[in-house]
Amino acid sequence: MPGIMERNQQKVELAQLGYSLKYIDDWPPKTTLYRHKPSYNVEGMIVEDIGTTAPNVPGNPDYVLSKARIGMFPWPPSATCTCKWCVGQNGEKKTKDVVPEDNSSVIIIEV
Ligand SMILES: [Zn+2]
Repeated sequence: MPGIMERNQQKVELAQLGYSLKYIDDWPPKTTLYRHKPSYNVEGMIVEDIGTTAPNVPGNPDYVLSKARIGMFPWPPSATCTCKWCVGQNGEKKTKDVVPEDNSSVIIIEV
């Protein structure tokens, strides 16, 4: 059992990441997480794009907090999401929007 201090820290961190207090106090045993950040393989190719779901995962604060740190949340990514990945994306252009129509000038995007 984590101590009270640890539990409170977890709550604060979850709230800062955009979790509602309702979720924190009343978390479901199972939830579905949505990727707000693509995952890449070692070659830099997207393996799982933004919006990919991970259904039926544990809903406990320890688990969702560890996933929130890598860009997975129980709500879909959107323009109103305040997570750092959605906010970053709405401020910048998405990689897939920058690819030119003709292949003569391929833009390399450093990640
Ligand atoms: Zn987000």
